[in-house]
Amino acid sequence: MYNRSWVEVDLTQIKQNLRIYKDSVAPNATIMAVVKADAYGHGDIEVVKLLQCEGVEHFAVANIAEAIRLREHGIAGQILILGYTPVEELDDLVAYKITQALISEEYAEALANTGKNVTCQFALDTGMNRIGIDADDPVKCEKIIRKFAERLKITGVFTHLCIADLNTEEATIFTREQIRKYEAVVERIKDLNLPYNHCLNSAGGLWHRASVNAFIRLGIVLYGLKPDYANQIPKGIEPALSWKSTVAMVKIVHVGETIGYGRSYRAEKEMKIGTVPTGYADGYNRLLSNIGYVLINGKRAPITGRICMDQMMVDVTEIDDVKMGTEVVLLGRSGEEILTADNMAQQIGTIGYEIVCDISKRVERRYI
Ligand SMILES: *Cc1c(COP(=O)(O)O)cnc(C)c1O
Repeated sequence: MYNRSWVEVDLTQIKQNLRIYKDSVAPNATIMAVVKADAYGHGDIEVVKLLQCEGVEHFAVANIAEAIRLREHGIAGQILILGYTPVEELDDLVAYKITQALISEEYAEALANTGKNVTCQFALDTGMNRIGIDADDPVKCEKIIRKFAERLKITGVFTHLCIADLNTEEATIFTREQIRKYEAVVERIKDLNLPYNHCLNSAGGLWHRASVNAFIRLGIVLYGLKPDYANQIPKGIEPALSWKSTVAMVKIVHVGETIGYGRSYRAEKEMKIGTVPTGYADGYNRLLSNIGYVLINGKRAPITGRICMDQMMVDVTEIDDVKMGTEVVLLGRSGEEILTADNMAQQIGTIGYEIVCDISKRVERRYI
């Protein structure tokens, strides 16, 4: 496994990304680091421990297992679960001092009915239609929040921006409207003095301002990727994750022969083909079959044929000195060439988030 397929996470880069991000947003901004999905595939414990040293005290995760994992590794501070946790898991929420998002009035009722003193934050739906109580009616929101403030330990309200990464006029107007709806609710419950109200994600923090406070849920940019690959993010923020493998074997393929399952690639000339021991079970997206590329010795090696479960074949005809054991860069830098998760995402119509989150657990994470 050691030299088959592995990820290198540059923790110093994550630290730099945090510092540059903070410098580019409101100077007094408080950061809640979003470390769901194993810190977007980077390794939650290592990332959180680093961030704690940098003074970050608030963390957000997707589910209770992720939250408990942090606590069991000695992580203090606030841990907020951003989505649904079944009511049956309530005892763990309390025992581990985890903050739960209240995703609806019905859900709040179910939690309150248990009579347990759960710490919660109300999700407000300002236009995404995912979770939260409908902020189109701030009076009703106020009523609901006040009602449950007596039965649950409510420490804040939050909303999520769904198009803050797009800078068209229409998108900007929509985002401003989301922030306005959120602020209207916050204003109505001001006297409750809730300590943690927040509405900004990575993109929101960079390109929008909320007057209420500057508490930012920072995810993707912490890892050096862009909310959308068309975005310009502050200089010096770079991907912290590289993904590497090694050449397993090199062979000559003759004119007319085909490569891989389904015989989807046909050699038009004599070719030198390298087999790389990484495939879709490692999280390498199969849609990159015949269109993606890897980097070897500072050059691009196009993927030939379909990505297999555990292996892929690449064209190394034009690359010198390729043999068993030669390093293959799946994501990251090789010589002058750089291939980012955002580049890869663009090739197959997805986002960098999905590329890094999909790198599977059998790919070892190393920290540099
Ligand atoms: C994932 C998530 C974030 C982080 O978003 P980024 O675009 O990665 O900064 C923030 N808030 C909520 C509710 C999320 O689900």
